[in-house]
Amino acid sequence: MRLFSRDKPKIKVQTTKKDGFSGWIKCSECQELIHGNELAQNDNCCPKCDYHYRLSIHERLDNLADRNTFEELFGDICPRDTLKFADTESYGERLNKAREKTQRNEAAIVGTCQVNGRRVALGIMDFKFMGGSMGSVVGERLTLLIEYALHTKLPLIIVSASGGARMQESIFSLMQMAKTSGALAKLHEAKIPYISILTNPTSGGVTASFASLGDIIIAEPGALICFAGPRVIEQTISQKLPEGAQKAEFLLQHGMIDCIVKRRELKKKLAAMLNYVCDNEKSAAEDSQQQRATSNRKRELTLQPMAMRLAFSSGLKKT
Ligand SMILES: [Zn+2]
Repeated sequence: MRLFSRDKPKIKVQTTKKDGFSGWIKCSECQELIHGNELAQNDNCCPKCDYHYRLSIHERLDNLADRNTFEELFGDICPRDTLKFADTESYGERLNKAREKTQRNEAAIVGTCQVNGRRVALGIMDFKFMGGSMGSVVGERLTLLIEYALHTKLPLIIVSASGGARMQESIFSLMQMAKTSGALAKLHEAKIPYISILTNPTSGGVTASFASLGDIIIAEPGALICFAGPRVIEQTISQKLPEGAQKAEFLLQHGMIDCIVKRRELKKKLAAMLNYVCDNEKSAAEDSQQQRATSNRKRELTLQPMAMRLAFSSGLKKT
């Protein structure tokens, strides 16, 4: 009967082999064998088919920010189970497990850093922490970051990776959509640039709020970007979705995003975009200052003869 028992098999899987085969993995996209080291050196992209695997917050910071320039903000605001929500597990237990797994206290980290020497406000979401879901603390940290960018006039970058709103927080998670969008509207009014980077996957309430509100929206190749996932749609409408629907390439064709940038080129292109939007803004401000100065000068010039005429005419009257 041991044959049918659910005990784990007694065969040991060797993880460190002397024959040099350790560290090999099968690419989930092209099914080719690739080595873990090669994958790590290639920014977690498959060297054979260029499939972009997910990055941890740490890896994303290495990829985007200048070395040792990231300074975390608002990291002391932590989630609590105010609703005492429980499904198969309580929300509190799920939070504890996620904290243990990721060694982080929430699904988003925010702060400031430098990108090619330019200081920016940066927010990064972590899909490993409860599917990158947006709870009230994720929303609060991002809103505080947006407000920080507004007050310090720093350009804002948010890297999204999320399954959507955190259902364990019910209405409190949905409120974050309005809160982040409202803060971004103020940032927009103040003409401070916001670049949104969408990675695989970005969906639900995150897509329906701050992720889609960037002045420039960049996506990584092959990223799933949607509101409801393809399976949910297919079950609802009982129809198959077209091939590649809801992928970054499809969204680019349909005007939902501005560009698709490969991960290894992301920092360089991001820096170029920041130079363009920030310097343009600065030169626009300088232009308007110059215009104001010129119009003031013009006014002076037109007023001077007028004043002279008035003085002359008043002089004439006097005499
Ligand atoms: Zn591959």
